[in-house]
Amino acid sequence: MTGTCDVWISAADHARLMNHLYPGDRDEHGAVLRAGIVEAGNGLRLLVRDIALAEPGIDYVRGQYGYRALKPTFIHKHITGCRDERLAYLAVHNHDCDDWVDFSTIDLESHERGYPALRDIGKGVPVGALVYGRRAVEGDIWLPDGARARLGEYRIIGQSIARRTARPRTVDDGGGIYDRQVRMFGKAGQDLLAEARVAIVGLGGVGSLVAEYAGRLGVGELLLIDPDVIEDTNLSRVVGATATDVEAARLKTEIAARLILTANPAAKVTQFPFDVLNADAADALKSCDYIFLCADSMRARLLVNAITHQYFVPMVQLGAKIATDEAGALSDAMSAVRSVRPGEGCLWCNGFIPSGTLALEAKSDEDRKAQAYGTNEPNPSVITMNAVAAAQGINDFLFDFLGLREASGDWRYEHAHFLARKTMKVVPHREPECSECVRRYGRGDALGLPGVMARPVTALTPKHGWLARWKEAVGAWFRRHPRT
Ligand SMILES: [Zn+2]
Ligand SMILES: [Zn+2]
Repeated sequence: MTGTCDVWISAADHARLMNHLYPGDRDEHGAVLRAGIVEAGNGLRLLVRDIALAEPGIDYVRGQYGYRALKPTFIHKHITGCRDERLAYLAVHNHDCDDWVDFSTIDLESHERGYPALRDIGKGVPVGALVYGRRAVEGDIWLPDGARARLGEYRIIGQSIARRTARPRTVDDGGGIYDRQVRMFGKAGQDLLAEARVAIVGLGGVGSLVAEYAGRLGVGELLLIDPDVIEDTNLSRVVGATATDVEAARLKTEIAARLILTANPAAKVTQFPFDVLNADAADALKSCDYIFLCADSMRARLLVNAITHQYFVPMVQLGAKIATDEAGALSDAMSAVRSVRPGEGCLWCNGFIPSGTLALEAKSDEDRKAQAYGTNEPNPSVITMNAVAAAQGINDFLFDFLGLREASGDWRYEHAHFLARKTMKVVPHREPECSECVRRYGRGDALGLPGVMARPVTALTPKHGWLARWKEAVGAWFRRHPRT
């Protein structure tokens, strides 16, 4: 076998599958997973889009060679369905074991008899098998190019993120400069942070704080996305920015990169000084482990929301807002921390991406002024409120990404209203026909993403054509010379 392939699944789907495989009878059960396909740059990833449970005695029957097997008609129905929808086909069964699992010789012999033919029927989609223990998973995946891959990591994505492999990870001692943190999270946790690839979209007031925290915590790889250069009005809230940076018209991504590398010189930082809708920036987001969405624009919100559902990359949207009434008096001051997870409703169907604002953003600057919406006024922003959102967002990331806590309640969005000193917890609903969280769910590379500009990018905004071209050139240079 050569290489590995990762499988990601939502927590709700994983729970449903485990209930089917382990109903308490200590017997063997079967199912087929239909999974979206992602070429993530760092390898192949399969996203479980739906599960077909094999009914015992009907779809999962006494085998000709082994103990039990999926019935040929059940297999045929699902492999042809996967072929037509461009989904990977994964046959699943369980063994009566806990933290260690492996295929039996009989399992592997049946794969060698069956999968070459299924691969032909699948016409270019990966096919293969997963075998489950109660807390372990192994895979044997047959790729269209003729290679055969084992399971790398099986990731379960809910509010909290859990990981399964065929056998427990080995852990050595000692935490170096992160010793104090290690005492809280364990060496395994610190290693997960060092291996994490995390994106920060928007490096203004909230994003610069997230960069600072992520750098100091020892997050291994950071992608920084923001097209803007620093301005003097930003100095009151962009962490790490100096008056010299304003004079030099330095990029916000440059300032954040400097901040991270000061805290952790070993971090791998890649700057994308473009709009998030740039094809390269959007592409890089697909292969991340987690996204902090700290940009104000609704286009950014629509895109990152889509990536979470289509690619299963968990994200949190962070922001702070001050509202005034018609007389100009302060009416609300709030921070928002909205965790978005695949299969649990989304920012679009819960009304947090107003279509009016989205449409307005698509217009030119002149058209926007003509509409006199007042949206050109800068949103007032205060560093302390930004800090509440940023600190809570990255604190949640720590506990959830390292799987340190159990999910508690269904709420995913948390809004702190500072005038009223009230915190609201919002349970997102899932619109059954949602064009974003339902239609895109686990589709991976099979669908395009909303609003992404076609390559090659010419100008980001007509008004600043030369600036955009310059940023593009700077960005290309950074991509050729990533800071390591
Ligand atoms: Zn078996
Ligand atoms: Zn939705």
